[in-house]
Amino acid sequence: HAVYGVEKWGKDLIVVTGDGEIGLRNPARPDAPAVSLPEILRDLEQRGIRAPMLLRISSYLENEIAHINNSFAEAIARSGYKGVYRGVFPIKVNQQAQVIDRIVEFGHRYNYGLEAGSKPELVIALAHKLAPEALIVCNGVKDAEFIRLAILSRKLGFNTVIVLESPKEAETVIEVYKELGIEPLLGVRVKLTNQISGKWEESSGDRSSFGMNTDQLVRVVDKLRDAGLIHCLKLQHSHLGSQVPDVNDVRRAVGEACRYFTELNAEGVPLSHLDLGGGMGVDYTGEKRATENSINYTVEEYCANVVETVAYAMDEAGVDHPTIVTESGRAVVATSSMLVFNVLESTLYDAPTAPGVEPDDHHLVADLAAVDGYLTPARLQECWNDATFYRNELRALFRRGYVGLRQMARAERIYLSLMARIKTMVAEVEAETDLDVQMEKIADIYHCNFSLFQSLPDVWAIDQLHPIVPLQMLNREPDRRAVLSDITCDSDGKVDRFILADGVSPSLPVHSLPEDEDYYLGVFFVGAYQETLGDLHNLFGDTNVVTIDLRADGGFDLLHEQEGDTISEVLSYVEYDPADCVAAFRKLVDGAISNGGLKASERKLIIGAYRDSINGYTYYE
Ligand code: PLP
Repeated sequence: HAVYGVEKWGKDLIVVTGDGEIGLRNPARPDAPAVSLPEILRDLEQRGIRAPMLLRISSYLENEIAHINNSFAEAIARSGYKGVYRGVFPIKVNQQAQVIDRIVEFGHRYNYGLEAGSKPELVIALAHKLAPEALIVCNGVKDAEFIRLAILSRKLGFNTVIVLESPKEAETVIEVYKELGIEPLLGVRVKLTNQISGKWEESSGDRSSFGMNTDQLVRVVDKLRDAGLIHCLKLQHSHLGSQVPDVNDVRRAVGEACRYFTELNAEGVPLSHLDLGGGMGVDYTGEKRATENSINYTVEEYCANVVETVAYAMDEAGVDHPTIVTESGRAVVATSSMLVFNVLESTLYDAPTAPGVEPDDHHLVADLAAVDGYLTPARLQECWNDATFYRNELRALFRRGYVGLRQMARAERIYLSLMARIKTMVAEVEAETDLDVQMEKIADIYHCNFSLFQSLPDVWAIDQLHPIVPLQMLNREPDRRAVLSDITCDSDGKVDRFILADGVSPSLPVHSLPEDEDYYLGVFFVGAYQETLGDLHNLFGDTNVVTIDLRADGGFDLLHEQEGDTISEVLSYVEYDPADCVAAFRKLVDGAISNGGLKASERKLIIGAYRDSINGYTYYE
């Protein structure tokens, strides 16, 4: 199993057990044995809960919240920083009730708050009992209704901060203040000019969509002063970006944010909170390097760098140390969810034996078969090129009618038998060849029971890498290489980049599918952004979602189950009334009985089949 690099990316949460199965460890209980993930699936299956499913590990969420809050607290204590840390969780990163409820519960002792980027998210935030000092930070475009609700919520004791995104928003706030006569708690969103490298480079710097430039900032300060509200401006917000790969970019951006803070202070703005937005990354690949899917820092280093940079800038300007706020989302939730699905079948891209060449076969069939005679590790690439050329020429002849069906089938099988030998040799050749790189062209296709568009949208949209690994048989040598194809009818629905111990590979080492049991794969660290960004392509709906807690004795507790969408539910999302569908189908059936196409005795069976489908799971059962 060393090939999968679980030790590298698993963060000690995901491990391989002595039985060759993926195990889940709870770092908060280092002495507890790892809980076998296939064992969890077997148990859930007995309870009637089947894959594909999203498994949320509550303990991982709790640990991550503790990790970030404790790391800031330690950095603050170690450096003698005079302010405190008050994190907020950005609801958009995972809005699911089971996740937000637990974040609020686990975060209570840290005065952990919520960030709302829209009216619906503010409505979610206000449905929770937060700790007395926790913040609700409101970002995004806000109309008067949004602002009114934010201001009124202060009457209930919520520390709801309206972060002004533009001078126009400041005018709306002033109007609502005059209407209600209640003072708002305000912030200003400042656009930093520093660009931050990585996948989200465009969301930072001059051209980013959100926040104000210096000119707009000054106008807002003047407007608030004129309206007698400058004393309400307590927070400066400067979003650093997302999945920031290089910690030195964090330092540079925080330094710039501090310049605005100290300048505003010099203008007499009584700021007390510095909000640095999101950006703390997740090391998806385990490389520990500043690459798109990895980061070159730990949570502790991130916190220490932020605290140190803010302290230095404030001390230099003689400004009191502010409360530090961050809105880390990805780093809080990504590791806590995993997607698990079964492989339905495989299209093998090789064949164990080659048929003989028939006397009447085209000479290209003989040329193809002859490649076997000079196939050696040294001539691997040449043999692959030749075999592919002859096979393609034969396909062209087939299309024009010069080669028949049986002859073409023979040629395809000879080709596949050559591929079988080439694959074995590629695996044995030490030096990297072009074939290594082209492996996906000769890899098997494993057809899997999930929708990429519903469950892993970032893999499709932005080439996000997540660790993917078989959950069982890991004490056996994987004997095949595969790319994964999902259950949608879209050729884009495939995964062909995998994190392995020695880097990113176009195919995943897998085992021949066992005949008498399911073969499961797990996709890890999918807790951030994937659930709501997913869509209904081909009408595959939400998967089953199960939340569990890892026990100290190596068992687990089932905390919550959310059944996946039924077909009836997804139909209603696209404007169908399922009852109307059943009625329309029944009418067609009765019509067929009237005109003699169907026997009356078949009515029950056919309508029953329709009803069973409409009430069932959208995935393969
Ligand atoms: N805060 C704001 C304003 C954001 O736009 C985002 C996401 O881009 C976040 C917080 C969360 O960022 P991350 O998930 O990288 O921590």
